[in-house]
Amino acid sequence: MTTGLPDREFPADLVLVGIGVIPNAELAQAAGLEVAGGIVVDGESRTADPAIVAAGDCTVRRLADGSLLRLESVQNATEQGKSAAFALLGKARPFAGAPWFWSDQYDVKLQMIGLTAGYDQTVLRGSPEAHKFSLFYYRAGRLLAIDSINQPAEHMAGRRLFEQGISPTPEQAADSGFALNTLLS
Ligand SMILES: Cc1cc2nc3c(=O)[nH]c(=O)nc-3n(C[C@H](O)[C@H](O)[C@H](O)COP(=O)(O)OP(=O)(O)OC[C@H]3O[C@@H](n4cnc5c(N)ncnc54)[C@H](O)[C@@H]3O)c2cc1C
Repeated sequence: MTTGLPDREFPADLVLVGIGVIPNAELAQAAGLEVAGGIVVDGESRTADPAIVAAGDCTVRRLADGSLLRLESVQNATEQGKSAAFALLGKARPFAGAPWFWSDQYDVKLQMIGLTAGYDQTVLRGSPEAHKFSLFYYRAGRLLAIDSINQPAEHMAGRRLFEQGISPTPEQAADSGFALNTLLS
């Protein structure tokens, strides 16, 4: 394939490619919508124009504290899509759940739930040597997020903990012998 660009070489040990990181929001901007690194929507996928909704990677969501959150994940796109459909029908379906994400990289299954911003403590559960572990992120003793490597059952238990608003103590999280799902109702 010819790109029309001059051939250049960049020596590197590691190459990280960010595909789809910059949203094409020109059309939204031309339509007079608020754009700030993406089309600004509320928790129900409404834009500044009551007749227009937006969902997915092209959006940034305004949170209750006024900050803007851009999530690039399948879960976010589908949940916002559902909220957008409800909004068009004049119904409210706020996207209230905790964000989650997964990626399979060769033999590594990475799964995340929650957002780590502002954490002040991390707790390791499992064994990095065995390539099966989770990192729990806390702020002021309250669970913010869990990143798991090759621990799908722990991730699912974590999702249910978030759904039920349950925060295991750091001691419980660190103890692999403690079954997290015993905290679930
Ligand atoms: C390499 C890669 C790996 C990823 N891995 C993961 C992962 O492991 N887990 C995860 O949760 N997420 C992952 N993501 C992110 C995930 O794919 C996106 O968050 C999700 O697809 C966003 O959905 P969307 O509907 O907003 O946008 P998209 O899925 O990008 O869909 C937008 C669609 O609009 C079409 N389109 C664009 N412009 C126009 C136009 N002018 N007219 C008509 N159609 C148009 C595009 O062709 C496209 O089909 C990955 C993304 C990439 C790029």
